[in-house]
Formats: sequence, C-alpha cells, structure tokens
Amino acid sequence: MKYIHTQGVVLKYTNINEADRMLTVFSPEYGKLRVLAKGCRKPKSRFLAMCQPFCYGDLHLKQHHEIFIMTQAEVFNAYFDLRHDIERLSYASYIVDLTNGVVHEGEGNERLFPLLLKALSFLSFSDTLPLDIVLVYELKLLDIVGYRPLLDRCMVCGAGPGEKVRFNTAQGGIVCQKCNCRGDSLEISQAAVQAMQRILDIDMFKSQWVGFEPGVREEINKLLPLYVSEKLEKRFDSRSFAKSFF
Ligand SMILES: [Zn+2]
Repeated sequence: MKYIHTQGVVLKYTNINEADRMLTVFSPEYGKLRVLAKGCRKPKSRFLAMCQPFCYGDLHLKQHHEIFIMTQAEVFNAYFDLRHDIERLSYASYIVDLTNGVVHEGEGNERLFPLLLKALSFLSFSDTLPLDIVLVYELKLLDIVGYRPLLDRCMVCGAGPGEKVRFNTAQGGIVCQKCNCRGDSLEISQAAVQAMQRILDIDMFKSQWVGFEPGVREEINKLLPLYVSEKLEKRFDSRSFAKSFF
C-alpha cells in the first residue's frame, strides 16, 4: 500500500454513493490525482471543507489501485470569496478547467502549480480585472506546457516584426504579410505583440499581476482562445461563458 503526502488544488469533483465525492486534484509533484473522499458530504465530515472546487490544501492519501483515498486533509485556502461574484467564479472555473486539460496523471508540474495558486488568489482577493488574470494565466500556461508563442520575428522567414503582422495559431507565432500563407491567422497590432512578450518575459512571482490596455486586451482576448484550442486540441466551454462578460 502506497501512502503519499502532497499539496493539491481541487480541479473538479463528481458526487458518488450516498455521501462520497471523487475529486480530481492537481498536485505539484504527482500531477493529476483521482482522490476518493469518503463521507465528505456529511455535514460533520472532517473532509467537507477540502472537497470544494478550487480548494487548496495539504493532503495525506492512500493508494488503492488507480485511485487515492483521502486519509487526512488540511485546508490552506478555499478561495471562498470567489463564490460572491459570478464573474470571478466563472473565470476561476475556466482556469481550473484549462489546468485540468494540461496536467496528467503521474506527471508533476512544479511551475504551473504556484501560478495556479497565484491566479486563484488574484481572482479572489485583488481588484485586478478578472479577464486580465485569465489572459496572463493562459499565456504563462502555454509557455509552461511547451507552446510559448514566438513573437519577436516572423516564424517563417525570420524577418523582424514590421508594421503589420499576423498571428498564426497553427505555427504558434507571428508571421509577416509575405509569409502568411498557411493555416488560420489573425491580424495583430505591435502593441498586442509587445504586451504578450512582456507577460512571457516577466517573473510573476516578483511582480503584481499585470493588466492590459483596453484595445490590446480585446485583441489578445480574441487570439488566445483560438491558440489555446489549436494547441490543446480542445474547446473549453467555460471560456465562452467567461468571455460573455467582456
Ligand atoms: Zn516572413
């Protein structure tokens, strides 16, 4: 019998049996874990608080075949304030959905985990525009999982960015007008290219969450959902819901 001790964030859950819940938990060391919390829906359960979506805590787990059984749990942060604001709640739902789409069982991700915590904290406790938190999280996540967009030169001919460039979602970066011949692409301003480059270069743990100028925000908010679904081969319905607030 294998026992593990890890931190984790609850990405989603399914209610099963009378009072149990099967959680999908993201752990920095172990990646995605399926965790059975027995009896957690009973009002007096010691697991009740830990079994809510977005909840971040410390977990002791016992492996049972493909799944883990929760034996001890301590909540560090439930991000409860998210529940007071439907807009922030829907953005947080998208952020955990997106995270669920890129983490895998048995593959830890020690870079993405603290970024997720930071995004949830900013959504819960800061005045930063929720959409800006989502856009920055998307960009940083894409970088972490290996899809950092190339923004400093044309992906095909290597020419420096001219006045007019396009972002090609299949190729994952900007292409000049001359080379734009393959796949979907969107015209994008120099200001938006520079804003994305700045986010990619910044260390999120040494700075506040960064925001965007209105026009730039609109451009990036058009481009990133296309790029995310192209690279992750998945559409996130929760993203469309979040988008409807903008
Ligand atoms: Zn070119």
